[in-house]
Amino acid sequence: MSIQLLAPDVAAKIAAGEVVERPANAAKELIENSLDAGATDVRVEMREGGLRLLRVSDNGSGIPAEEAPLAFLRHATSKLHSAEDLAHIGTFGFRGEALYSIAAVSQCTLLTRHRSEEFGVHMRLEGGAVVSSSRAGAPVGTVITIEHLFYNVPARQKFLRTATTEAGQISAVVQRYALAYPECRFTLISDGKTVFQSSGSGYLLDVLVQHYGLENARQMAPLGGQGEITTPEAPLEGEMDFGASTGVAENLGAPVRVTGYVGLPSLTRANRTGIQLFVNRRAVEDRSLTHAVVQAFHTLLPVGRFPVAVVLVELDLAAVDVNVHPQKLQVRFVEERRVFNAVQKAVRTAVIGHMHVPDREGAQPVEDESTPAWNASGWAERRAAILDAGPQRAFEMPARPPVSAAPAAPAYQAGDAPRPPALPPLRVVGQVGAMYVVAEGPQGMFLIDQHAAHERILYEHFMRRRTYNLVDGEAAQQQLLQPETLHAGSELAGLVAEHLDALRSVGYAIEPFGGDSFLLRAVPGLLAGDDPITGLLDIVESLRGGRNLAGEQYEAELVKMVCKRAAIKAGQLLSDIEMQELVRQLEECASPRTCPHGRPTMIQLSAGELEKAFGRI
Ligand code: ADP
Ligand code: MG
Repeated sequence: MSIQLLAPDVAAKIAAGEVVERPANAAKELIENSLDAGATDVRVEMREGGLRLLRVSDNGSGIPAEEAPLAFLRHATSKLHSAEDLAHIGTFGFRGEALYSIAAVSQCTLLTRHRSEEFGVHMRLEGGAVVSSSRAGAPVGTVITIEHLFYNVPARQKFLRTATTEAGQISAVVQRYALAYPECRFTLISDGKTVFQSSGSGYLLDVLVQHYGLENARQMAPLGGQGEITTPEAPLEGEMDFGASTGVAENLGAPVRVTGYVGLPSLTRANRTGIQLFVNRRAVEDRSLTHAVVQAFHTLLPVGRFPVAVVLVELDLAAVDVNVHPQKLQVRFVEERRVFNAVQKAVRTAVIGHMHVPDREGAQPVEDESTPAWNASGWAERRAAILDAGPQRAFEMPARPPVSAAPAAPAYQAGDAPRPPALPPLRVVGQVGAMYVVAEGPQGMFLIDQHAAHERILYEHFMRRRTYNLVDGEAAQQQLLQPETLHAGSELAGLVAEHLDALRSVGYAIEPFGGDSFLLRAVPGLLAGDDPITGLLDIVESLRGGRNLAGEQYEAELVKMVCKRAAIKAGQLLSDIEMQELVRQLEECASPRTCPHGRPTMIQLSAGELEKAFGRI
C-alpha cells in the first residue's frame, strides 16, 4: 500500500476520537467553554443519554457574530495566543479542538449573541460542514446543541453503552463542575426532567447537599479552619535539587491551597471513586493525590473501605502543567511532593479535628429540632452526674498521663488549637451479649465493641507514652519475680532472635539463653496479669506472617498485638463503672471510631435512622 495523506474528513474523525469518545466528553468540553466564557448559569439538557441530543446553554459572554464560523475550525481559539501562554493556562480550553471535533462527528447547532452585539447568530453544521448560517435574535450567551453524536462514525457507535450509562456519565460530569464552581448554577435535564440543580449560591456546602444528600453532607468536614489551609512550608530536603535541576526553582515554596470537604470515617465507600480531585478548579484524576487522601485516613477506616472527599487544590498556574492529556484529565506538578504533603495534611487535620460528627460547627444538627426526645432524655446531665460519682476503678485501665505533658500523638496535632473531642459525651445504657456496650449520645445510639474500643484506648495510650517518653504513671514494664525460660523451638526462636530489639522496645526484657532458649525477665506493663511465656509465644506466633516487615513496621505491629492481647475480651461481663470508664477513655481518644487495625469500634444509629427504621418518618 502506498503512503497517502488522509482526506481531511477522515483526519477530522480520527482527531475527534481523541477528544470525544462518548457524550460525556462532549458535555465536559461544552461546559468548560461556558465557564471560560464567564457563565454563572449553565444548563445541560440531554435526551437518551446525550446520544440523541445534548444541549448546553449558558449566560456567558457569547461569541461575536463574525467569529462564529472560526469557533469550529481546528486550532481556532480565543484563549491562547503564544507558546509562552502555555506555561500559565488559566482557562479550561486552549487547544481549539473541542468544537471542531464535536462538530465533525455530529449534527451541531450554535445559537449565540455576544454581549456587545445587538443580534446573535444561528449556525448549523453537519459532519463539520456549515450548512446554514443566519442572523438571529437571542439572549446574551451561547447555546450549543449536538444531535446524533457519532452518526457518521459507525465504529464508535458500537462502543457506546446504553443511554442510561451515558446519562450517568454526563450527570457525573455536571456535578463535578458544580462542585468546582459553587458560584455557578448548574441545571441538568434528562429526557425532560430536572435531575440535578445547584443553587449557584457560592457555598460548596450547598452543592454537597445536592450532590451527596443531606444525611451524607452532614458527615463531611471542611478542609482547614475556614475551609482552607495554606501550606507555605519550606520544601523538604532533597526537593531543592529537583527544582533547581529542572529550572523551576522560582516556584519552590509557592503556596499550595487546599480546600474542600472530606467525609468523616462514618461515611465510606467500597472503592476510591468517592474521592474527587480538582486542581485549579479542573477535575483531575491523580493516583498520587488520591493516595494522599486515602493515606490521611490511615487506621481510621476499616480495611477495604475508602473515604469520600472533594479536594480542591489551588496553586500557581506555572506550578502545574495541564497540557499532558487530550481530555486534560491529568496534570503534572512541578513539586508533586509538596502538593501531596499539603493534601495529606489538610485532610488528616480536618478528619481528626471533626470526628465528633454530630455537633460539629457549621452543619446544624437538623435532627435536634425534629427529635427533641434525645435532648429531653437529659443524657448530658445524667452522664455528668455519673462521672462525678467517684473514681472507683473495677478493672485496670491505664492511668492517663498528665494532659499538659501528653498531647495526642504528633500526627493528630492541629496547630496550637486545643483538639476538640472526637466523640460526643456518651451515657452508658448497658451491655449486650457480654460484647457490646450500648450508649446514648446527643444524636442517637452507639453500639460499642468493648474489645475493639479498649484496644484503641490502650494503643493510643501506649503510643503517647512512647512518643513523649513519659516514665511516670504505671510501669511500662512489669518485672517478673522469677525470670522464666522460653523454649521456643527453632522456627519461633529464629523469629524471637530476629526481633529482639522490637520486643524490647515494647517492654519485654529478654535475652538469648543458648540454643533455642531465651530468658524472660520482664513483660510489657499492659500484660502484667497475663501468663508471660504464653503471651510472648502467642504474640510472636501471630506475627509470623510479618517476617518481611522492616524493623519499624514490625514494632508497630507488635504494639498493636500487645494492645489486642491486653484489651478486655468479648464475653467479659462489665460492671456499670467499668463501662463508664471505658467510654470515658474512648472519648479521649484521638481516633475513637476504629481499632488500631482499622476495624470499627462502634456503630452509630442516628435518631433519624432509628425513626426511619421504625417508620416514624
Ligand atoms: P478552546 O476552548 O480550546 O478555545 P473550543 O473548540 O472549545 O476551543 O472553542 C473554540 C472557541 O469558541 C473558544 O476559544 C471560544 O472563543 C469560542 N467558544 C466556544 N464555546 C463558547 C461559549 N460557550 N461561549 C463563548 N465562546 C465560546
Ligand atoms: Mg473548549
